[in-house]
Amino acid sequence: MIRYHAYSIEEKDLLYGPGKRLVLWVVGCSLCCDGCINPHLWNPQGGIEISSNELVQLCSSSEIEGITLLGGEPAEQAEKLLPALRTIKAMGKTIVFFTGYEIEELNTATQKEIVDLSDIIICGRFDKTKLNHFLHFRGSSNQRVILNSERYKKYKIRDGQNTVVVSITENGEVICKGIPDNDMKSTIMC
Ligand code: SF4
Repeated sequence: MIRYHAYSIEEKDLLYGPGKRLVLWVVGCSLCCDGCINPHLWNPQGGIEISSNELVQLCSSSEIEGITLLGGEPAEQAEKLLPALRTIKAMGKTIVFFTGYEIEELNTATQKEIVDLSDIIICGRFDKTKLNHFLHFRGSSNQRVILNSERYKKYKIRDGQNTVVVSITENGEVICKGIPDNDMKSTIMC
């Protein structure tokens, strides 16, 4: 079973990748980057569980272009994620893989296979000394975007804009997707 915090269907290219995607926030991250916006996702025992079959089912609609893996740290659940990712890829869907590791650090067989299956990889630690709100997919300038497959070879990385999506739940909770700068934070209180 895969441990995760939340999933949602999103169509926000600048945050999650091309087309309509199943976005999965897994739990567990041992990298503990200073300034991480998701420390509540560090605990590997946190969250809830989803099976490979359920994850595949969530991606099965023809409207869904693929899955985006966020965290937490997907590479730390590589063995649990891999069977579902193989099936999702075999269905003709794509994989966008956000990881705090450099791909050169992903050395286990399962981690390497996930790298090979991924169409877009965003890799590297978040470094708050290199914080930049205007980078497509990335929070700091040391992080890299790797276009890893023919499918998205011509995909354009569009740095220069800051996308933050704010929603308010029925309970009045403010949820921010993206990385708000300080002005945004004081305006929207997230
Ligand atoms: S790798 Fe990502 S989730 Fe993990 S601590 Fe760094 S920024 Fe946070």
